[in-house]
This record gives sequence, structure tokens and C-alpha cells, in this order.
Amino acid sequence: MSSFRTLDDLGDVSGKKALVRIDLNVPMANGEVADDTRLRATLPTVTELADRGATVLLLAHFGRPKGERRDDMSLRRIVPAYERVLGRPVHFIPDCTAPEAEAAVAALQSGDIAILENTRFHEGEEKNDPDLARAMATLGDFYVDDAFSAAHRAHASTEAIAHILPAYAGRAMEAELKALEQALGKPQRPVAAVVGGAKVSTKLEVLRHLVAKVDHLIIGGGMANTFLAARGVAVGKSLCEHELAHTALEILDAAERANCTVHLPYDVVVAKQFAPNPPSLRICNVHEVAADEMILDVGPAAVEALADVLKTCRTLVWNGPLGAFETPPFDAATVALAKIAAALTQDGSLVSVAGGGDTVAALNHAGVAGDFTFVSTAGGAFLEWMEGKELPGVKALGLA
Ligand code: ADP
Ligand code: MG
Repeated sequence: MSSFRTLDDLGDVSGKKALVRIDLNVPMANGEVADDTRLRATLPTVTELADRGATVLLLAHFGRPKGERRDDMSLRRIVPAYERVLGRPVHFIPDCTAPEAEAAVAALQSGDIAILENTRFHEGEEKNDPDLARAMATLGDFYVDDAFSAAHRAHASTEAIAHILPAYAGRAMEAELKALEQALGKPQRPVAAVVGGAKVSTKLEVLRHLVAKVDHLIIGGGMANTFLAARGVAVGKSLCEHELAHTALEILDAAERANCTVHLPYDVVVAKQFAPNPPSLRICNVHEVAADEMILDVGPAAVEALADVLKTCRTLVWNGPLGAFETPPFDAATVALAKIAAALTQDGSLVSVAGGGDTVAALNHAGVAGDFTFVSTAGGAFLEWMEGKELPGVKALGLA
């Protein structure tokens, strides 16, 4: 990663218009914002620019309107929640392009903050249309990208526009890129990766990339079953992608060639029913799973061994829970290993970076999300970064 421009590289912005791409794509329930995490993530950049005297014009998408104007996907609905989180008035401008929005933008004062209407109401947004990017760029003097979670998409408001205006990384983008660089770009070794979750098929590229990058690959969750089965272990009724056995063996081969140690569980938590605290629950060696049992979590002996591995490592990157953590007690391995990683981080011996929708939920459930070095809420962009892909929104900032 080469050096990149941040808000520190901006000169005097007083009286200038900042076009700031943020992520306002929050979950809604009954017309209300159900989770304002993404709104809060934008505060450092937005308040800093407003306090430095810029007029802050916020660009964002909301839902999938596919180029149509739809009331149910208007960003006007987010304004009250955003005002609450920000503690300041927020203007709303019902378009994000010139000439339509020009008069409304001209009426704003230095330090004002406005949300511009959903970028995806324009067909050109998802097509990365340079004409649309120019029509947006006309409204501002410079561009700030603070939406890492949208950086895996080459869209007009994330990619094309960065070639038209002077472009800067916002504070959240800056923090995210620094953390990711620390975790997999130039990490302190040894590096461990935990990859869990339901299926191998959704994370093949992640596994392929990581075996070449990390010293220890810890595989858990449903995807461990596919690897165990590929090695000839009978996994009973477990979630398992038997058709991927060949691919799993290829990944294990690649790991061996790259000197990456793969850790698969040798004891597991099994049950005949997938339900909270089922009567059939037991812990057994992976070679003792009965034909009518399912593997639902990594066992306690394996967790102890994994804790010893983490104690020898300086860096950890984590995506995917080790078990079906939503259903007790199949959260035990994930919670136990997360607590160990958090304690090592707090002791200063481990840099820990985690991401993924269910992973974030699992770390919150374990009560340790705040004790990791960095937890990414970016979802798709985080996974593509784990796959080693260059993200178009990052590349366009000249940061790649
Ligand atoms: P993330 O969103 O963090 O990338 P995934 O979506 O890949 O994670 O996987 C999370 C899901 O995997 C959870 O819903 C969890 O219940 C499921 N899971 C983990 N282990 C198992 C298992 N052994 N059997 C069935 N499902 C599992
Ligand atoms: Mg998920």
C-alpha cells in the first residue's frame, strides 16, 4: 500500500464544498433505523469537516432501487436518525447531481451538513458512469471517501468520481485501511487466521489466499466438516459440502507447500437435534461421530490447543464463527477463543483484526468486540480484501 491522502492533507477547507461518500445503508424496521452503527461510524469525518468550515455534502446509496426513484428507498427517511446521532441539524437535498441540486447546495452555509438523495436513483451509479460522476462532482470542490464497506464496488460515487475531484480517505476509511494493512499487508509474524462459518463454497478464495499468507490457518464452523470429510472422516449428518472434497484437498496441499500449518478440530460437540441444549449433546473425538449426529461446534480440547497457537502468534485475522453460535451451547468454542484473543490483544502481544456479519455478532455476543485491535463491519468489502482482491474504491484513491 502506497501512501494515501487523508483529511490531514487538506489545507484550509473553510467555505469549500466537500462531497463525502459514506455508508448510510442501515437496516430498517417499521420505518425506523434498527441499528445505527454505520451512522455513528461517519461522525469523525463529518464533524471534522463541518468544524473546519466546509459545507458537507453526503453521498450514499440506500437499498437497491436499480435506477428508479422510490419513496421507500429515499434517504430522506434516514435524516431524523442521522440528526439524533450527530446532534446537529441535517439538511436534505432531493437529488445528488447538478444541475438539479445546484440551487439547494448554493443555499447552504459553511459548516452545514446535507444528505443528498440516494445515488442509486440514477442508473449510472452502478454502471460507474463518468457522466453521472461529473454531474455529482460539479457540486463539490473535493471528494472524501469514508465508505470502505462500499469500496469493493466500482460505482460512480465510489470510483469514477475519485478521478475527477481531488480525493481523500476519510477517518473511518483511514482506520480500516491501516488495520487491514497491519493484519495482512505487512503483519508481524507469526500470523494466524481463523476461518469459520457455514460453508466452504462462500470462502474458497479466502482460504486460497490465506494459505499463502499466514503461518497458521485455523478452520472451524461448518466448513471444517468439509475438510474433515475430504480426509476420510465420517461426519454423519453434519453440514458438509462433500462435492468440494477435491478442492479442500487442494487447499490443504497448497498450505503444506507454503509452510502454513492447518488446524482442524480433533474433538467436536455433536447432537442429533439442532436445538438449544439438546438432550443428545455430547463431546467426542472427530473419528467417533455417529451416522445420525451433527457436528455443531469445535470441542474444548481443540480450543485449548488453539489458544496455545494464538499465544505464539503476533497477528490474528478472524472471519467466521467456530460453531453454530446463535444456539447455545454451540457458541462455547467461539466465545472461549474470542476471549483468549481479546486478552492477548489487551496484553499487547497480539494484533487482532476481525470482520464479517456473523463474526461481529459473535464477538459482541462474547462481549469482546471492543478488546480486539479492529473489528470491521464492512461485510462484502472485508471478505474481498481477505481474498486478496484490489478494491476499486480504494484503488481509485491511489491507496492500493
Ligand atoms: P460471517 O458472516 O462472519 O462471514 P458466515 O456467514 O460465513 O460468517 O457463517 C456464519 C454461520 O455459520 C452462522 O450462522 C453459524 O451458525 C454457522 N455455523 C457455524 N458452524 C456451524 C456448524 N458446525 N454447523 C452449521 N452451521 C454452522
Ligand atoms: Mg454471514
